[in-house]
Amino acid sequence: MKSDRKNFAEDYQAAFIHYLNGGDQEVALQRAYELGRRAIAGEQNILGLIGLHYRLVQAVKPQLRANLPRGQAIARSEAFLTQVLALFEMTHRQTLEMNQSLRDSERRKAAIVGSAFDSIVSFDVGGRIIDFNPAAEQLFGHTRAQAVGHDLAELILPASRHAAFQQTLDLCRERPEGGAGQRQEITARRADGSEFPVEMAVTFIQVDNAPFFTAYLRDLTERKAYEAKIEYLATHDALTRLANRNLLMDRVEQAIAQAARRPGQTLAVLFVGIERFKFINDSMGHSFGDELIRKIAGRLQHGVRDGDTVARQSGDEFVILMGGLQDGAQDALRGASEILALFMQPFTVDGHAIHLACSIGVSLYPDDGKDAEMLLAHADAAMHRAKAAGGGTVQFYTHDLSVFAAERVRLENALWSGLERGEFSVHYQPQVRVADGVIAGAEALIRWQHPELGMVYPARFIALAEETGLIGPIGEWVLETACAQNRVWQESGFPELRMAVNVSTRQFRHDGIIQALESLIAAGQVTPGSLELEVTESSLMDDMDESIRILNELRALGASISLDDFGTGYSSLAYLRRLPVDRLKIDQSFVHQMEDDAQKRTMVREIIHLSQAFGLSTIAEGVETPGELAFLAAHGCHEYQGYFCARPLPASDFERLLRQRRTGH
Ligand code: C2E
Ligand code: MG
Ligand code: MG
Repeated sequence: MKSDRKNFAEDYQAAFIHYLNGGDQEVALQRAYELGRRAIAGEQNILGLIGLHYRLVQAVKPQLRANLPRGQAIARSEAFLTQVLALFEMTHRQTLEMNQSLRDSERRKAAIVGSAFDSIVSFDVGGRIIDFNPAAEQLFGHTRAQAVGHDLAELILPASRHAAFQQTLDLCRERPEGGAGQRQEITARRADGSEFPVEMAVTFIQVDNAPFFTAYLRDLTERKAYEAKIEYLATHDALTRLANRNLLMDRVEQAIAQAARRPGQTLAVLFVGIERFKFINDSMGHSFGDELIRKIAGRLQHGVRDGDTVARQSGDEFVILMGGLQDGAQDALRGASEILALFMQPFTVDGHAIHLACSIGVSLYPDDGKDAEMLLAHADAAMHRAKAAGGGTVQFYTHDLSVFAAERVRLENALWSGLERGEFSVHYQPQVRVADGVIAGAEALIRWQHPELGMVYPARFIALAEETGLIGPIGEWVLETACAQNRVWQESGFPELRMAVNVSTRQFRHDGIIQALESLIAAGQVTPGSLELEVTESSLMDDMDESIRILNELRALGASISLDDFGTGYSSLAYLRRLPVDRLKIDQSFVHQMEDDAQKRTMVREIIHLSQAFGLSTIAEGVETPGELAFLAAHGCHEYQGYFCARPLPASDFERLLRQRRTGH
């Protein structure tokens, strides 16, 4: 620019002096015009040009006087300058005209603005509102009169937006050529205080040295709702409203990222294929099939843990994402077992009961895949293996786990059918008074006679039944059977007998045992006065206050409470004092071989003394020898149970024992 200016000054001087020195007028004016054009184009501004001209006149004065008569010299000088300035003048006039038409168009614009669909708010550089169109009145609930003169930010923006808004204005002012300003989505506030999303674009306008801002605002409430709807449709399955594949993949990626942040946590992908669905769909019609899929989806959605994602993969395939797992394989297997159990009950569509089964394939992160695609593909492959293996089973992508899962699932299915087919029975083991050998009670112990596996003991299946929730129906069945048996014996004239039934942790929670007992009492099937419930310390410890409440309710119903396996758990005096129980049952591990073990004897003695101090009754389990019984008798234990008297016996054998005792044989 600097060199341009120097060139301009030099060129001006050369042309000017040439003219003054008697150069051709036409050529001179032509050069002056050219210089004027260059000045307008930006090589020289008007004040600079005039200054340049008069400095030249001063400099060449002596020369001028010498060469030309004074008047002529001045005239030529002015003519040259005028020629150059003429262009400036013309440009200036054009600018004025342009501004005029601009103002006209502004007026036109104002009219448009007035009726505009968008809210348009103009405000001065200080942020004060100078115009507020009708759409803005409607949008914000302020009239124009109320708005004008107020600070825009304070009137329509929540306080949290003020700083950001000021930044936008600064940016706009610095780069006015940025034109329409950038669109932003922000939260605005109405007169009634409610907040809503708007799109805002701010422009900086400068007319006749009177700069101001204009903000264009558009209500986004509807668009947002629409977008949310679009988003929902894009991420959910229309038929079932479950997550679709897109959302699922997203969630799997998120779960992977989370697992990476929290070592020790993992996730599992369960691919669930419905058996026989295609056949039903073809034979019953598609709308029937759709309704069935909806029912399946509903059951799956309800059956999983909170936070798990259930997605519909394709027609009759679903995928479940289990995140935040501690023990991946074990937790996934438990989840899969629960899903298999969901299919035990038939689905009802149009009054038809449809029995279905599913096959489940499981993949675990990170062993079976490091990304969502891989995990899904491998779970899918495992599901097809499960189908090939006959359906109704779980297969892990990793072979070893599949073998383990298959066995467990087989046992679990067998448990269900075992209950239906009457493979369970209850054995009774006498509880004998130490003082006189009278049978005061019996403990009901479940037995499972499996057609292939033979006699299965509770140690093998109670924990599984607990995990899968099957303990509910099984426990109720034992309670009902044992109580019914006791009633039969009472009605046959045997002496009064206390029937002890084991209650496991899961039965104990959520009032399950209370409800079971209440319904049996209501049906007249239980005389609670002769019922004892055996609970373990560990099942009470989770929530002591809740446990105390449940125990009190059970006692209020008439049942007595025995603390099973006592001594193996927490056995703290502090909680024992608070627990509403009637009896402590000394665990058999202390009784077993206590004759050779001073420590065990000390323990047994201590428990007996403890229960005496608390006014509780004591029973020792696992008594096998006369020596053990003698020790218990010496320390004042009330009752015992064990092979020394009898093993757990089928009802008929137990009845024979009762009869023998009565007749003294
Ligand atoms: P538990 O309640 O501590 O039952 C006592 C266990 O000791 C029984 O094992 C019984 O057969 C065994 N036993 C009794 N006397 C002797 C003895 O002199 N020597 C030896 N070595 N063992 C003896 P069982 O029947 O295998 O039951 C094991 C556990 O399974 C029970 O422990 C109980 O916790 C659970 N269980 C059994 N039936 C049921 C039931 O109907 N419901 C629930 N929830 N759990 C049950
Ligand atoms: Mg017991
Ligand atoms: Mg026990």
